[in-house]
Amino acid sequence: MKIPELLAPAGNFDKMITAIHYGADAVYLGGEQYSLRARAGNFNHADIERAIAYAHDHNVKVYITVNIFAHNRDMEGLDDYLRFLRAAGADALIIADPGIFHLARRVVPDLPLHLSTQANITNFAAAAFWQAQGAKRLNLARELGLKEIREIRQHTDVELEIFVHGALCISYSGRCMLSNYFTGRDANQGDCAHPCRYSYQLVEEKRPGQYFPVEEDERGTYIFNSKDLCLLTRLPELVAAGADSIKIEGRMKTIGYVGSVIRVYRAALDWIKMQIFSGHDPEKIVLPQSFSNEIKKIGTRGQTENFFDARPSNKGMLYDTIRTCQGYVPAGIVRSVNPLLLDVRNPIECGDRLEYLGSSIESLPCTVVAMQTQKGESISRANPGTQIILQTEPALDKATVHSLLRKNMEGL
Ligand code: SF4
Repeated sequence: MKIPELLAPAGNFDKMITAIHYGADAVYLGGEQYSLRARAGNFNHADIERAIAYAHDHNVKVYITVNIFAHNRDMEGLDDYLRFLRAAGADALIIADPGIFHLARRVVPDLPLHLSTQANITNFAAAAFWQAQGAKRLNLARELGLKEIREIRQHTDVELEIFVHGALCISYSGRCMLSNYFTGRDANQGDCAHPCRYSYQLVEEKRPGQYFPVEEDERGTYIFNSKDLCLLTRLPELVAAGADSIKIEGRMKTIGYVGSVIRVYRAALDWIKMQIFSGHDPEKIVLPQSFSNEIKKIGTRGQTENFFDARPSNKGMLYDTIRTCQGYVPAGIVRSVNPLLLDVRNPIECGDRLEYLGSSIESLPCTVVAMQTQKGESISRANPGTQIILQTEPALDKATVHSLLRKNMEGL
């Protein structure tokens, strides 16, 4: 039985390095044009070449998103861009628009094409259609349940990629005009302002300025505010169903988020692999609670399994706040060791309790005993955006470059 590829978002070069450090098998990233996630700090041509070289040095594949819904004006220069991506060594292109797909088949016929989730593949006939067009892989629509994924697997042998973790779009796979209407930022060109998460009130047209609350209960409502997808505990069933790749959402998310999520999913896939090698039936494997505990330490808007078992109910929505409270925040990223140099992401003070995130699912707790600037001055508080030499008790002797430390905010 195949263990699926772990596919990570790479919103910029640093995020890509972190994802690779924590065990991604492949990353996806976008260029400055033709990619959704317009504000994700996308890669220019030189960045793309550098990213592919770095990833390939670490045996990691790179898929480039070319997944806008193109207007006529967007087609200009696209063939040159596709040729550039092939020459740069991209492992595949992620495409949603049939026109771009058709062009790519002609211009870069040897480059594998993956269908984006925006293409809304919800049944085996659509899967067979895209396979016949030459798609190597399909990222299935997020509106599918496990039973439907299994059926698509039984009817086709094209590679299947499943979103397992991250923010959900409350419209049908991002086909939404809310953002365009309110802010002029087009979700289908990768520039969504997420107005679905705002809090809304009602105004009757003859009573301007008089706001009526929109209430589903006494806490009010954020009517479109979905919880975040988390299929961590369902990974064994996805492995048994024959998923080829599991995908983490989040090119706009922070380094701390990307590293922490990839770390948990890597550890989970490795643990499942061990269980299968020991003869366990993947359908019956149950992940230990420590994995779920770990994923809950990463900031989310709450967790939902979306359509995995059945059509989601209102329990999949988050009503009383725009996001859930976060028990932990990233403290910093290790930039070098001996001494341990940290890029500070949130304020750190002497006496703070930190946790070092290595590759295993157990984090390593430690206490800050001393901090110095790079000029050797002792400090008692380090601010975000600075670099410090960090001493902890116990000492982080086995720390590795690119690893994360987080800080427990509960009880502060
Ligand atoms: S506004 Fe919300 S529902 Fe609409 S595209 Fe953006 S994230 Fe999706």
